Amino acid sequence: MSVKLPEEVISCSNFINGEWVRGESSTLDVVSPYNGKKIGAVTLPSQMQIQHAIAAAEKAQVLWAATPMKERSQVLFHLRAILMRDMEEISHLKAAESGKTFNEGRAGLMKGIEVLEYALSLQNIDVGGKLEVSRGVNCEYRRNPLGVVANITPFNFPAMVPMWTIPINIALGNAYVWKPSEKTPLTSMKIANAFHEAGLPKGLLTVLQGGADTVNAIIDHPGVKAIGFVGSTKVAKLVYTRATALGKRALCLGGAKNHIVLLPDATPEIAGPGISDSFTGCAGQRCMAASVLLAVGDVEKSIAKILERASSMKLGTEMGALITKAQRDFLVESISRAEALGARVLLDGRKVPPPAGMEKGNWLAPTILDYVQPGTEAATVELFGPILSIVRCQDVTEAIQIQNSSDYGNACSVFTNSGAMAERVSREAKAGMIGINVGVPVPREPFSFGGIAASKFGSGDITGEHSLNFWSDIRKVTTKWEKQNDNNWMS
Ligand code: NAD
Repeated sequence: MSVKLPEEVISCSNFINGEWVRGESSTLDVVSPYNGKKIGAVTLPSQMQIQHAIAAAEKAQVLWAATPMKERSQVLFHLRAILMRDMEEISHLKAAESGKTFNEGRAGLMKGIEVLEYALSLQNIDVGGKLEVSRGVNCEYRRNPLGVVANITPFNFPAMVPMWTIPINIALGNAYVWKPSEKTPLTSMKIANAFHEAGLPKGLLTVLQGGADTVNAIIDHPGVKAIGFVGSTKVAKLVYTRATALGKRALCLGGAKNHIVLLPDATPEIAGPGISDSFTGCAGQRCMAASVLLAVGDVEKSIAKILERASSMKLGTEMGALITKAQRDFLVESISRAEALGARVLLDGRKVPPPAGMEKGNWLAPTILDYVQPGTEAATVELFGPILSIVRCQDVTEAIQIQNSSDYGNACSVFTNSGAMAERVSREAKAGMIGINVGVPVPREPFSFGGIAASKFGSGDITGEHSLNFWSDIRKVTTKWEKQNDNNWMS
């Protein structure tokens, strides 16, 4: 299905204490990557408005924390029904502002709903633990909300990345302040309206628009207890450093340069589409996208299948656009730089014309570079576009060495039919998420999402079981009600 672009410019503002409030600072345009047309105008909050918003969140959180989790979760059941009802409309809007295809827009929202389902189940699975540790004495775990927490999200998943954390925090009893990307703020209106319609009391979800000024004001506010961040490594480090210098907990997910180890015994019919879809999906603008193919030995049959699939992608319906013209220009220049360093262009996305009527959009078709040298830009820098750099390797040892030398550590996959080789790569690759014959190894819930090395600052993961201790405190309660006749060390 083609993406429906908004016919009129959408006014977007800030969701403060249950109402949409026009920002009193500046205004930014939202431009569709599809055709370069303005589709939205977003007003940014003043410092006073940010202070007021967080004060309202603090007040609302006190009552919410005193509400049992089973009651809090009812809002999330309603929310799920609303998001399923509005799936098509939300998917079109997020695709229109981020450049995704309609199907990618819907898939991102579905993944967000999967995390919502995990949050819904916390009432039944996160029941703590209790043990009689000494005669008549019990120890017990109790999970306590933190208060007001904040999350800063990137442009490339306008609904999924916020949905990784909003429902979990609402279930845990926190109030949540969300700062969406200034490039894709329109979807935040749909998500916040859905929570409102689901019955979430006012003040528990706040949306503050803008860029670094808004982020810094949120981090610095003493009422905000924890900061989550998803975006580039450069900004992840800035946010992590600022938040932790103030003694706050921070979990900041950064960028990636993901490798795929392709072995001669892989099944070409599995490797071809798996690897092609990994580097072309979301036009390569996802932190789990394949970027470097470590081709070990004779893998020509699999490479032919990758080429076959990637060269058939139709711009506009099967593959989306790049977020900005500047990003497209950067990618085109980086392809030229790789060529100048000796890479061969097996598939040249620069030559494919934009879809009819969308000539002003930011289009680049799939591009495959072969014989890329390790250590060069195409092999080491996060390009964030539909470009696959093939690095030829003698053996698995060399492939693992190249993978391990990356600064990043988000995802790494291996395509093989050898269990021993798959096991070796999964043990030795420096990555938080490993795929075996899977090109985009995003863990499905309840398995947590998160990388290592320069792809993550802070401990824990952003979703699933390993996110819970980040978004809450664990209180340990030791209880004794009766005097014991015999003496033991706890009596
Ligand atoms: P970005 O770092 O430019 O922006 C992310 C957020 O930070 C936005 O909300 C933005 O407004 C804010 N921001 C920008 N500059 C800031 C500053 N100086 N101080 C404080 N806040 C600032 O990232 P992006 O371009 O929106 O997203 C693409 C990047 O995100 C890629 O690097 C991609 O790999 C990464 N990403 C990572 C994951 C993951 O799970 N690891 C998921 C999605 C995207």
